Amino acid sequence: MKTSFFKKLLIGAALLYVPVQSMAWGTNGHRICGQIAESYLNPKARAAVKAILGHETVAMASTWADFIKSDPAYSYMSPWHYVDLNKAYTYPELVVFLKQDTSVDAYTKINYLIGQLKSKNLPKKDKVLDLRMLIHIIEDVHQPMHVAHADDKGGNDFKVTWFNNPTNLHSVWDSQLIDFQQLSYTEYAAAVNDATPAEVKEWQKAPVSEWLFESNQIAEKLYTDIKPGDNLNYKYNFTHIAILNHQLLKAGVRLAGVLNAIFG
Ligand SMILES: [Zn+2]
Repeated sequence: MKTSFFKKLLIGAALLYVPVQSMAWGTNGHRICGQIAESYLNPKARAAVKAILGHETVAMASTWADFIKSDPAYSYMSPWHYVDLNKAYTYPELVVFLKQDTSVDAYTKINYLIGQLKSKNLPKKDKVLDLRMLIHIIEDVHQPMHVAHADDKGGNDFKVTWFNNPTNLHSVWDSQLIDFQQLSYTEYAAAVNDATPAEVKEWQKAPVSEWLFESNQIAEKLYTDIKPGDNLNYKYNFTHIAILNHQLLKAGVRLAGVLNAIFG
């Protein structure tokens, strides 16, 4: 009796456990970007964001878009988290590509959500959803593997091991490298938030096409730095953590720039 109950429980648990492919900066990565963004909001934008999100901080709102992924009601938003760029683009080529881009992806949705949030008569319910999505997607496109190849699902099919544990290139950049630092998101944000005023100005001035160009260039290099099956460990952390931290910082600074422009 007992055995059969536990057997059923195990089978039940196995059925419930459907591994989903990793799709975004992990929870900490998103919150680090959000925490950094909050430090660059101007007073008007800070008040407007608070009026929409209430008690929820930008850091905490960052992860909503991933938390609702299992709800079929929101499945239409799954392609909003990335842009498929299948090769190394030159900047002029990328600008042409984006001009013609009509697909449902992070690029078209960032523009859509900014337009929505600028409109005066958007219902409160939509404002909350649109702001949470915009925060999340701006952060996502700074994760280089969100601006990568479609045929390997942004590196999800590029299998590697991380300290001998099976994973993939996308996931290493979403989570493993960040988790390896063993910092809370507030500690992490404080540790990497060292942009100079000149950098803040320059990064916030750059159009979305430049953000995507930077991510595309980094992603193309990440593909060639290693080969499938490699075991990544201390050395990979040592050689790649600076560029990852830089992307987290840029994401936060630019997110604040966008929110300041919408609400400021
Ligand atoms: Zn995402």
